[in-house]
Amino acid sequence: MGVRFCVLGSGSAGNAALVMTPRAHVLIDLGFTPDDLAARMEGTGAAWDSLKAVVLTHTHGDHLKKRTLKEIANREIPFFCHEGHAKHLQGGRYFKRLAAAGAVRTYSGREPFEVADGIRFLPLHLPHDCPPTYGFRIEALNGNGDERPAKLGYLADLGHERAGLCEAVADVDLLALEFNHDEDLERNSGRHPKLIDRVLGDQGHLSNRQAALVFENVLKLANGTGGPRLLVQMHLSEDCNRPDLAYKAAQEVVLRMGAHTKVFSTKQNLRGTVHEIA
Ligand SMILES: [Zn+2]
Ligand SMILES: [Zn+2]
Repeated sequence: MGVRFCVLGSGSAGNAALVMTPRAHVLIDLGFTPDDLAARMEGTGAAWDSLKAVVLTHTHGDHLKKRTLKEIANREIPFFCHEGHAKHLQGGRYFKRLAAAGAVRTYSGREPFEVADGIRFLPLHLPHDCPPTYGFRIEALNGNGDERPAKLGYLADLGHERAGLCEAVADVDLLALEFNHDEDLERNSGRHPKLIDRVLGDQGHLSNRQAALVFENVLKLANGTGGPRLLVQMHLSEDCNRPDLAYKAAQEVVLRMGAHTKVFSTKQNLRGTVHEIA
């Protein structure tokens, strides 16, 4: 078994994902309760006891649950967050407990950082209304002596494609990307106009159309290398999207670009596929 990736659940009610190598298991985001996370990790090979690090993208409630931060503090698992997140969280008692245990590690947003043996994260700033928000380019060694790391892109939540973002993930093996909403379903959702404006805005979430464009730009930049082998669609809105619409938006790009990318969707209530990357 080499490098593996699994979305434990994704959507506006909770987000978490695993990056696993033979040497370390790393959790991205803690948007579920400790018990729920334990249940979702069953069958992946990971468990609370095997987690070597937790990395935070941003502090929205669907990515960070207080009870789970408490569990991380009790277990003294190294917790990687941006300097801005640390500032935001510093008054909380579980964060204080983590800090007292010496388990808080901050990233600056500019430099890559090693989260566990052979797993490096490069933070990618994302335009989202919870500053700061980060996605990641992740490089992980499979521990079999291969020099070439497995490469992943992890991009959610973002309102638009900022300059330089696609370049940073152009050569990844697996791209996990937000396909949040269908623009027509969002506009006609009957939600509060302010919420609709927020989701559709530049600091909200990517629509299927916008995400498909990001994917297409990644494929164009990957010219010659074939682009990502796997596309994992994340953060689908339960009210304003459907898996078939998100899939169609991405698959249309695959066909038009002559790519060989396999498209997978993720759900809020069910763990996703465990993908073997390298
Ligand atoms: Zn968010
Ligand atoms: Zn979110």
